[in-house]
Amino acid sequence: MEMAIEAADVGVTYGKTKALDGLHLRVEAGTVCGLLGPNGAGKTTLVRVLATLLRPSRGQARVLGRDVVREPMAVRATIGLAGQYAALDEELTGRENLEMVALLYRLPRAEARRRAGEVLERFSLGAVADRRAGTYSGGMRRRLDLAAGLTGRPPVLLLDEPTTGLDPRSRQELWAILAELRGAGTTVLLTTQYLEEADRLAQRIAVVDTGRVIAEGTPAQLKAGAGSDVLRIRLADPAAASSVPPVLAGLGAAGATPALDGPSGELTLRVARPDAAAEALRRLDALGLRVAAIQLTQPSLDDVFLSLTGRAADGTATGRAAGGTPSGHPTDEQEISA
Ligand code: ADP
Repeated sequence: MEMAIEAADVGVTYGKTKALDGLHLRVEAGTVCGLLGPNGAGKTTLVRVLATLLRPSRGQARVLGRDVVREPMAVRATIGLAGQYAALDEELTGRENLEMVALLYRLPRAEARRRAGEVLERFSLGAVADRRAGTYSGGMRRRLDLAAGLTGRPPVLLLDEPTTGLDPRSRQELWAILAELRGAGTTVLLTTQYLEEADRLAQRIAVVDTGRVIAEGTPAQLKAGAGSDVLRIRLADPAAASSVPPVLAGLGAAGATPALDGPSGELTLRVARPDAAAEALRRLDALGLRVAAIQLTQPSLDDVFLSLTGRAADGTATGRAAGGTPSGHPTDEQEISA
């Protein structure tokens, strides 16, 4: 399989800060890789290295086999970059911005005009194409920025936090466009602070913390590594709750038993089976035990972080040790690599 992005032992140092500290990453061509990590993890720094905007102080990085330091022009010809770079000219219209980008890719003028029109339609910007970019809303700007990144039809797209600061609707729109790209065979490296975003769009996720990839895998593998789902059940008649644990036999994750919160009558159980909630409902229903509420909670970004680093994604220290996850897995970086 062809690798679109290969970073080996990449280091970048700013004064005493090691923004990247021996980072390894491989992204297969035609896939979407989510680079997930808290603020300051080094995500933008890696994007800048791959985009040839920043020279690494050690290690090697290649895009479609071209070395970012030795062959920067060849790398630039194969990438599109969007996100926090605001390469837009506010004085130009959306259309003029895209035509300019197309001309930078050395497309003939007629082709540049055609391509710009096509991309504007695709990003639902047709109606505002001839308005100055400076008058666009935040969501429109991001779409135009992404459109600019795609105008040259680059085989590799680097997207740095494309939805940070967007309202939920604009974020949804952008997700739809990115899902489309995923189907079109473009290789995408997407940095994000949102697990949900990586989860929806990326085939594989690399979790970055303090300048390194500390875990890598499919979204499902990462969540599995972060611990089991938790099933919560509340009966309509709390007094009957004590009869429930035997009914849930066999549904718990390895070694887990149902915990009963006396006063509320709520039962919680760590589960491993994807059908645990449905199966629990079936069994309780068969015994005539009416359920008032049932909920299956998946590990969140915080849980993933907590289990990998022993601290929350926002950097808050917790009582949990870094050496183990709630489910007792070791946390070394091989753990959830496929
Ligand atoms: P992320 O994109 O994951 O939020 P960055 O790559 O922006 O992280 O930053 C990684 C680390 O490098 C942070 O500690 C940040 O403060 C530091 N850093 C980034 N850019 C610079 C810079 N130009 N000068 C000094 N330190 C920087």
